Amino acid sequence: MGKVNNDFNQRLRGRRITQLLARDGDKCPICQTVLNRKIIDNKDPMYITFDHIVPLSLGGLDLIQNIRLAHQKCNRQRGNNAL
Ligand SMILES: [Zn+2]
Repeated sequence: MGKVNNDFNQRLRGRRITQLLARDGDKCPICQTVLNRKIIDNKDPMYITFDHIVPLSLGGLDLIQNIRLAHQKCNRQRGNNAL
């Protein structure tokens, strides 16, 4: 993945986070603690990830309507279980 692509992904990520924080508030829906967008290390367990409400593996779509924010550690725990 080149630098241009990476910059684009970071911008897209930032835009989606802004949208989702406005829609859902700044609490992780799984652990109910605050999502901190200043954490930019994607190995940090508190890094913000996009959680597909209906997992892609179960036919969910990669659309904002099917996405919520969750900490990396919370998203991982949930695995592929549908809500
Ligand atoms: Zn969480």
